[in-house]
Amino acid sequence: MTTTGEHVPGDEARVIDAVPTGLFIGGTWRPASGGRTLTVDDPATGKALCEVADASPADGMEALAAATAAQASFAAMPPRERGEILLRAYEIMMERIDDLALVMTLEMGKPLAESKGEITYAAEFFRWFAEEAVRIDGGYAVAPAGTSRFLVQKQPVGVCLLITPWNFPMAMGTRKIGPAVAAGCAMVLKPSELTPLSMHSLAAILAEAGLPDGVLNLVTTSEAGAVMEPLIRDGRARKLSFTGSTPVGKKLLEQCAEKVLRTSMELGGNAPFLVFDDADLDKAVEGAMQAKMRNMGEACTAANRFLVHRSVADVFAEKLAARMGALTVGRGTEEGVQVGPLVNAKGREKVTALVDDALEKGATVVVGGDPVDGPGWFYRPTVLTGVPLEARLSREEIFGPVAAITVFDTDDDAVAAANDTEFGLVSYLFTENITRALRVSEQLESGMVGLNTGLVSNPAAPFGGVKESGLGREGGTVGIEEFLETKYVAIGFGG
Ligand code: NAP
Repeated sequence: MTTTGEHVPGDEARVIDAVPTGLFIGGTWRPASGGRTLTVDDPATGKALCEVADASPADGMEALAAATAAQASFAAMPPRERGEILLRAYEIMMERIDDLALVMTLEMGKPLAESKGEITYAAEFFRWFAEEAVRIDGGYAVAPAGTSRFLVQKQPVGVCLLITPWNFPMAMGTRKIGPAVAAGCAMVLKPSELTPLSMHSLAAILAEAGLPDGVLNLVTTSEAGAVMEPLIRDGRARKLSFTGSTPVGKKLLEQCAEKVLRTSMELGGNAPFLVFDDADLDKAVEGAMQAKMRNMGEACTAANRFLVHRSVADVFAEKLAARMGALTVGRGTEEGVQVGPLVNAKGREKVTALVDDALEKGATVVVGGDPVDGPGWFYRPTVLTGVPLEARLSREEIFGPVAAITVFDTDDDAVAAANDTEFGLVSYLFTENITRALRVSEQLESGMVGLNTGLVSNPAAPFGGVKESGLGREGGTVGIEEFLETKYVAIGFGG
């Protein structure tokens, strides 16, 4: 096995060849009906990596039938056994971390070190939910009148539909599969057509770890809507767990209304990053690098709007620009590269358009500000100052390596600007004043707050947003609840 930085191009062919390319339905890998395939590209070169099966709506219905057939027996499997499957899968992922990371870098672009970080993060969801599988509890209580008893039981929701995005191709899957397996739910999972290879690799690992046939069914497709809508409207699936953009999430919520499916929605963000005049600026710049540059800025948690107190704004911008300008941009497989390409031409065009719009509206480039010539979808790490709040950069998800800085004068102005968005996933704030820290944390309208840190994601913590950033939480002790129903049995006690 290779380690980061030591692999040779032959490794790239070896790891890609090892990924199963079919649909995984009922425990069997098979071609899509009609033999249809779709191409997976390397965003660093724009060249094809491989072809994978491209599911049709009929294939999707077969996957749903397989999950439905597996549901009852899987729900009856002892929780300890379900947990042990997750634990074995965790161990296999960690044993194969180098190969899994290389596959991820090839299909998605992030540097190998970041891919390894994501594989570890992703595997940790399995370890966490292996432990949660045996802690599903219930309750027994005396009714207030004393004449009956309440028995409260938790049961698996039933068959779940899982839809994951391309930006964290492994972790967004394990964050759903982990609690679904722990709770006893069979699944149909649809990864993004841009980055299906991580989920294909994972399905094989789960089968090897002993997951029964039909519990996880994988349908990669170039027709996401046409394949998933009939499954959502069918009625046999009882839950949809979706991670992706807010517009698609809203459309799916409407579809879920027909059969009143349970939903978990992990949607888009527009995170404010507040730097107060009493902040430790070096700590704030470190946090900004994490919150902005993780995943090349292609993260729902990415700092989107830097709101900095006027008295420290110039120094903060200078320090941040020095760090951003020193980053090495390149193919994520190459040693020393810190910033990979954006995922595709569309992603880069959007970043370019947002930066151009801000410049037209009066912003100034401190560093970067343009795409990198040549093959692949690279964009230079960029810092802009004087970004007006009405610029598109301040209102839309950037999903690229661009830090947009705006100044504020008072705490109230900072909080008002931070909350002036339909999104509410995460906010960051840097201050050394404990009272201000707690007061502003309470005032920020977001599901998560990073206080003097640029990283909030942790499998043991409840991840999720408010407002149009979503519904429900993933991870933490509440993560499994999303896959459980509460049943109450009223017990007559006579008299
Ligand atoms: P997206 O376009 O909404 O796609 C997400 C997933 O939905 C993909 O698998 C996509 O398939 C599928 N999809 C697209 N249209 C669909 C439809 N009509 N019916 C069913 N499925 C459909 O989002 P993305 O560009 O992949 O991901 C980036 C977005 O995800 C950002 O907004 C980001 O903030 C958000 N995100 C949120 C979180 C969170 O935890 N809150 C985490 C990560 C990402 P195809 O890709 O094959 O079209």
